[in-house]
Amino acid sequence: MHSTVWSYEDFCRILDDFPSLKREVNGKRLVYLDNAASTLKSKSVIEKMTDFYLNHYSNIHRAVHTLASEATVAYEEAREKVAKFLNARPEEVVFTSGTTMGINFLVNSFIRSGILNQEDTVLLSQVEHHANLVPWVRLSKFHGFRVEYIKADEKGVITNEAILETKNLNPKVISITGQSNVTGQEMPLQLLRETFKSSIFIVDGAQLVPHKKIDVKKLDVDFLVFSGHKMLAPTGIGVLYGKKELLEKIEPFLYGGEMIDKVTFEDVSFNVLPYKFEAGTQHIAGAVGLGYTIDYLEKIGFEKIEKHIEELSGYLLEKMANLDFVEIYGPFDSSHKSLVSFNVKGVHPHDVSHILDENFAVATRSGHHCAQPLMSVLARGSKIDFPNSTVRASVYFYNTKEDIDILIEGLKYIKRWFE
Ligand code: PMP
Repeated sequence: MHSTVWSYEDFCRILDDFPSLKREVNGKRLVYLDNAASTLKSKSVIEKMTDFYLNHYSNIHRAVHTLASEATVAYEEAREKVAKFLNARPEEVVFTSGTTMGINFLVNSFIRSGILNQEDTVLLSQVEHHANLVPWVRLSKFHGFRVEYIKADEKGVITNEAILETKNLNPKVISITGQSNVTGQEMPLQLLRETFKSSIFIVDGAQLVPHKKIDVKKLDVDFLVFSGHKMLAPTGIGVLYGKKELLEKIEPFLYGGEMIDKVTFEDVSFNVLPYKFEAGTQHIAGAVGLGYTIDYLEKIGFEKIEKHIEELSGYLLEKMANLDFVEIYGPFDSSHKSLVSFNVKGVHPHDVSHILDENFAVATRSGHHCAQPLMSVLARGSKIDFPNSTVRASVYFYNTKEDIDILIEGLKYIKRWFE
């Protein structure tokens, strides 16, 4: 295994924590390259969550008994860990069920709070995941605000020029992915912030946060949303970070228990931050698990994780670019991180993905990746009979260059097979 980041011993320790990486699929060692959809889960995080569930679990906040207080402490400690991880304050961290929930929360809250009105423009990019597109587009139909897009070029790349071209739209809100789940492009967030100084700036961190340490203060983002399951944590837990002064201004998306201060038959007043946004019983163990995950990632070393993924990304892109029977999407520079979307000329992506699994135990994803509008952009720039979908191979810190070599071997096999 070749890595300038992990020693052999480091890597063996990592492998021990992900039993799936040692299992066989169709008689071969599993090569898991579907991390952008969801990462594998760590044994040590699961063991800590099991202990929490078996020995310390209860509902939180409301009771005075010991278990409730242990569970509450664990839940609030998890919030503090997330806050520290993002360089935020604990009251600026709201637990959600994930990125999709986070965006729906914001659109609805902005409408209810009178922040988004008929005369306003929301700026997205053409590479957004449906999670950061459908809620805006649908609710614009009912509430009359305009949705505009930063255009992607024929490779699906958002260029600095395209960003600057939209400057005069003067959007009330700009909501953009930190890293595309299709093109792998890491967005120039600093340029976006500087270009849209007076807009509310939302970053969809679903792909970015698992790979790159984000300092919300330094980046000056107003809201950041992400999902735990793309960074080892359980499904069903996510985070919405919001600047305190903005969270204080907006109306909750969900109403119910826990989020209130006083309730009468006629009216309601809200709890303080962040509880005002956490109605009902939360995914308590999920939040606690996300906290353990952050401990785990910090223990391995987030800088090392970033560096290893960067090395793998460069290797993956270079190897793929050498295959003349493959069409690759996204930028051809160092902004292309952690995944590659591609098509094998003349072979449907589902067939490619299926053969890779069956013959090489390589797990990839094929389809439109919840980005149908982007598929139509890629179709226009494609030199092949574009199937409106792609294959996507995505790495995480437990992958190696050998995994990528097996993918490449599989793709060469597919080419020969279809000839
Ligand atoms: N945005 C991006 C960029 C994504 O990659 C994803 C997940 N594929 C989402 C949003 C939605 O995340 P979730 O399904 O966890 O809500």
